Amino acid sequence: MTTTTSTDTLLRLRDLEVRIGDASIVRGVSLDVRRGEVLGLIGPNGAGKSTLLRAATGLLPLTHGTVEVAGAPLTQLDRRARAQAIAVVQQLPEAPPTMRLAELVLLGRNPHLGLLARESAHDYAVAQDSMERAGCADLADRMLGTLSGGQRRRAFIARALAQEAPLLLLDEPTANLDVQAQCEIFELIRALAANGAGVLVVVHDLTLAATYCDRLVLLAAGSVVAQGAPHEVVTSANVARVYGDRVTVINDPSHAAPIVVPARAGDGGNP
Ligand code: ADP
Ligand code: MG
Repeated sequence: MTTTTSTDTLLRLRDLEVRIGDASIVRGVSLDVRRGEVLGLIGPNGAGKSTLLRAATGLLPLTHGTVEVAGAPLTQLDRRARAQAIAVVQQLPEAPPTMRLAELVLLGRNPHLGLLARESAHDYAVAQDSMERAGCADLADRMLGTLSGGQRRRAFIARALAQEAPLLLLDEPTANLDVQAQCEIFELIRALAANGAGVLVVVHDLTLAATYCDRLVLLAAGSVVAQGAPHEVVTSANVARVYGDRVTVINDPSHAAPIVVPARAGDGGNP
């Protein structure tokens, strides 16, 4: 057992509310991301997952609540300090299709460069190491526009790693990937956590989330419905409440985590 110190909590959200115009998009959200853990954020389309991630990085103003990064209030960190503390991979990251993968990854070093400074040999070495860890070093010279969906995700994860931030926020890094590529991305995420990173990852697929995340937060209509271990969160009752009764949760002894499958109308729904 390791002892927990305050800096083991890399991200601490307390009673967060985000309003956009007149609408309260997220409210009453409190969660912690600890060093070495993968925390999954799940919930239906429009639940407020991406909004929560943006608010946690200071990209959206808070209406209420606090964000602390490794013990420091986010509001006390300037842009550069934030980028050194938190690396983000957005839901649909944009980049010029003719940019080379290695150039994209090197951009991750920007928060560490002095004003007008060029990248040093150390920056190139970190970028190379990041590509190797993300499993895309062999694609370094490829233009982004020529990459498959899975390769593209690896490229953006490599850029995030090049930031050398202890906290990673990933918004649906497995969307539109086939099941093998989904597993590979999650194995990569688990390896990053095993190396000491804290990861907050938005996941659409409940079975995937339950399989790979240490803990889950279930968000619906902007509020936390449940949080805890996967088998505590992905229950028939919670899933029926949030996703409706066309979904069945199976607890199969051959699989450590709950399995969520669609049930056709008339199949009896949840057992
Ligand atoms: P999720 O990522 O869980 O699918 P989002 O955080 O993207 O959900 O969106 C949550 C809700 O907030 C949605 O209803 C969305 O339409 C609304 N929303 C998000 N951004 C804006 C915005 N800039 N202006 C108005 N509504 C927004
Ligand atoms: Mg989203």
